[in-house]
Amino acid sequence: MSSDVVVVGSGPNGLAAAVLLARAGLRVEVREGAAAPGGGMRSKALFDSEIVHDICSAVHPLAVAGRFFREFDLPTRGVELRQPEIAYGHPLDGGRAGLAYRAFDRTCDALGVDGPRYRKLMRPLVEHSQSTVDALMSGQRSVSLAALRLPARLFTQRLFRTEEAAAMLAGVAAHAGGRLPSLPAAGISLLLGHLAHTTGWPVPRGGSQRIANALVDDLVAHGGLIHSGQMVTDLRELAGFRAVVLDVGPRNLLDLAGSLLPSGYRRRLERYRYGPAAAKVDFLVSEPIPWTNPELRKAGTVHVGGRRAAVYASENATVQGKLSNEPFVLLSEPMVADETRGLPGKRPVWAYCHVPNGDPVDPADLIRRQIERFAPGFTDTVLASRTVNALQQNEYNPNYVGGDISAGALDLWQVVGRPVLAWNPYRTPLRGVYLCSAATPPGPGVHGMGGYYAAKTLLRDEFGIRELPSLAPDKERVQ
Ligand SMILES: Cc1cc2nc3c(=O)[nH]c(=O)nc-3n(C[C@H](O)[C@H](O)[C@H](O)COP(=O)(O)OP(=O)(O)OC[C@H]3O[C@@H](n4cnc5c(N)ncnc54)[C@H](O)[C@@H]3O)c2cc1C
Repeated sequence: MSSDVVVVGSGPNGLAAAVLLARAGLRVEVREGAAAPGGGMRSKALFDSEIVHDICSAVHPLAVAGRFFREFDLPTRGVELRQPEIAYGHPLDGGRAGLAYRAFDRTCDALGVDGPRYRKLMRPLVEHSQSTVDALMSGQRSVSLAALRLPARLFTQRLFRTEEAAAMLAGVAAHAGGRLPSLPAAGISLLLGHLAHTTGWPVPRGGSQRIANALVDDLVAHGGLIHSGQMVTDLRELAGFRAVVLDVGPRNLLDLAGSLLPSGYRRRLERYRYGPAAAKVDFLVSEPIPWTNPELRKAGTVHVGGRRAAVYASENATVQGKLSNEPFVLLSEPMVADETRGLPGKRPVWAYCHVPNGDPVDPADLIRRQIERFAPGFTDTVLASRTVNALQQNEYNPNYVGGDISAGALDLWQVVGRPVLAWNPYRTPLRGVYLCSAATPPGPGVHGMGGYYAAKTLLRDEFGIRELPSLAPDKERVQ
C-alpha cells in the first residue's frame, strides 16, 4: 500500500482533512463514491449545457469566514467570491421586507424603530467577527458555552417590535432545520446573521464546484490522489492504511464497521437522531424573480416564509413529522451576483424547503406557491423545473439520511454531543479511524472545520505531528 492515510468521501470536510494531511507530508488518497469529487459542493450543467448550477450548497458565508478557508484563501487561488449588495432578504405580505444589506449602518437605518436594537445585538459580533466565528465553530464544548451566553431574549421572541427585524432573524435561525425558537438555532442566527455585514454571503463565480476544484488541486499538488466512483462498503477494505478518515455520518459508520465497533459505542451511534429533510427544486426562469418589493432583486439569498410566527409554525410542524402547506423556503438566484450562471432569457433559481425526514413529497408546487405569494407572476416565468425530494437527496449522498442535509438533528443535545458525547468526537474506538463529516462539530456547512480538527487529531495521535502546516497558497501556483 503506497498511501499513509485514506480519506473516504470528498465533501468539504473530507477534502479539508486530505489537504491538511498531504501538506503535513503524508501520502494521502481520497476515495469518493460519486462520479465526481466535491460532496455538497458539486455543480453541474442543468437545463442547458451552458448553465452550470449548484446541486447542493450555493451560498458560502462559512467558506470565507471559517478558519480553514481563511488560511486556504480561495480568492488568491482564483475562486472569485461574488457579493450581492443584499446578503439576504425576507419578504412579508404587502410588499414589506427585512433586508440584510452588506452595509451594517444601512441595514440598521432600514429597520426603523428596530434599528437601534439590531445595532446593539449585532455590533459586538460585527466588531469581533473573527473571534465570534472561531468560538462558534470550534470544538463542541466552546460552542455550547458560547451559545449559553446568547441574549435570552433572542430566542424567547421579545427582542424586536417590527415584523421585518423579527422575521429576518427567524429566517436565518431556520437554516438549522429544527425546532424554533431554540438555543442552537439562535446561535446559528447570530453567526450567519452578523456575517451578512462582515465577510458576506457570497456565491462563487461559476458555481460551488470551483471551491471543490481548488481543494482537489491543492491536494494533488501536494502528492495526494483522488479516486472518484469508488464507494467503500466495508471498513476492512481499508485495512492496509495506517489511518482512515471518514467523511461519513454515524449511520454510515455503522454500515461500514458495525461488527467491528465496541457495543457501547455502537449503541451510542444508534441513538444519533436525524432531523427534518430538505426537498429541493431548481427552476429555469425567463426573467429575474418579480418580487413585490424591488429591493429583493439585489438579494443573493431570499428567505420565503412570511412572518416570524409562520416560519416557526412551519419549521415546528416539520420537526413533528407534519408537512407544512406553507413551508419555509431558502432561495438563491445566483445571477444576482454572478452573470455567468445563465443565458439571456434563461436564469436558474435554486430553492429548497424543509419537509419531514424521509417524506417523499415532490416540493415543486409548495415552493412555487410560496414564491408566487411574494412575487406575483413568478409562475408565468418558469420555463422548466427539476425536483429532488428527501429520498432522492439520500440516494444522491448516503450522508443525508432521510434527506437530512445537516447530517443529524441540530438540537441542543446533538450540538453538544455530535456524533456522541466524547472529549474528542473525531476519534472512534477503532485504532487509526477518525470521523470528520458534518456529523462532527462544528456541524453542517461548507467550512471544512470538521476535516481540519479530525486531521489535527490524527496527525498528533498517529504520527506525533503537533505543528500544523500552513494552508496558504503556494506562491508559485497562485493564479
Ligand atoms: C441542497 C443542499 C443545499 C445546501 N446549501 C448550503 C449552502 O448554501 N451553504 C452551505 O454552507 N452549506 C450548504 N449545504 C450543506 C453542505 O453542503 C454540507 O453541510 C457539507 O457539504 C457537508 O460536508 P461533508 O464534508 O461533511 O460531507 P458531504 O459534502 O456530504 O460529502 C460527503 C461525501 O462522501 C461521499 N461518501 C459517503 N459515503 C461514502 C462511502 N462509503 N464511500 C465513498 N464515498 C462516500 C459522498 O458521496 C459525498 O461526496 C447544503 C446541502 C444541500 C444538500
